[in-house]
Amino acid sequence: RTVYVNGQYVPENEASVSIFDRAFLFADAVYEVTSVLDGKLIDFHGHITRLERSLSELGINFKVDADALLAIHRELVSKNNVTEGLVYLQISRGAASDRDFMFPAADVAPTVVLFTQSKSLIKSALAERGQKIVSFADLRWRRCDIKTVQLLYPSIVKNEAAKKGADDAWLVLDGKVTEGSSNNSYIVTRDGTIVTRELSHDILHGITRKAVLKCAAELDLKVEERAFTIAEAQTAQEAFTTSASAFVCPVVEIDGAVIGDGTPGPIAKRLREIYIDANRAAAI
Ligand code: PLP
Repeated sequence: RTVYVNGQYVPENEASVSIFDRAFLFADAVYEVTSVLDGKLIDFHGHITRLERSLSELGINFKVDADALLAIHRELVSKNNVTEGLVYLQISRGAASDRDFMFPAADVAPTVVLFTQSKSLIKSALAERGQKIVSFADLRWRRCDIKTVQLLYPSIVKNEAAKKGADDAWLVLDGKVTEGSSNNSYIVTRDGTIVTRELSHDILHGITRKAVLKCAAELDLKVEERAFTIAEAQTAQEAFTTSASAFVCPVVEIDGAVIGDGTPGPIAKRLREIYIDANRAAAI
């Protein structure tokens, strides 16, 4: 694979960043993952808008040039012949000359890294059978709206979920579900209302969440943006998650309770199809 590091396209085994990079020592970096279908980027500008917000919330001094970043994304997709998969973009506060909690001087350049992953997104065994979820306390810092690379806790709970024979973890804060380890969480109540937590510092403002809620509005489905408990989710008609890399992915079990009839629900399946069709058509 060819990867991108600070202005250069290099083979992945020749790419390097400093061991004093703040991403490495302090998780002082933000990222975006944009999906690729038919060799084109899904909702690129949505990701760039969120990237700008993450950078500005942390005061990382990187001037986002959407056209330049689009060109880099496209160049990597083309060099690596990605027809379906992901582009990962990470921007850190840069490499200081030593380990220091204080931010480096303003003239230290941010570190910019991009790479691609080829992978089947539309055809997904997990989406076909539906995910099993287990819940864990949400022990993350309370600025989950900033897309930082502090992913240790989500990574731990995903591994713990796998040990319990599940596919993923949902996180619970003050008795209510915040979101999944790397996705937003939804339930569909017995009267057909889609419920997902409202935007706040407690969840990532998913690019897919926004697009899927738009699809739901176009289908005249009822949506309530509010928090829900695991108990409410366990008696829901359906449940699902959304993310750029898995689109809409049905949930069939939560903490051992079977959701609906234990197979992916019709609303989740419909939203998955409509989301893919609409966003594929709009890809750039
Ligand atoms: N929530 C968390 C914690 C995530 O890590 C992600 C994606 O990585 C999402 C939600 C979904 O966001 P998006 O739809 O922008 O991929």
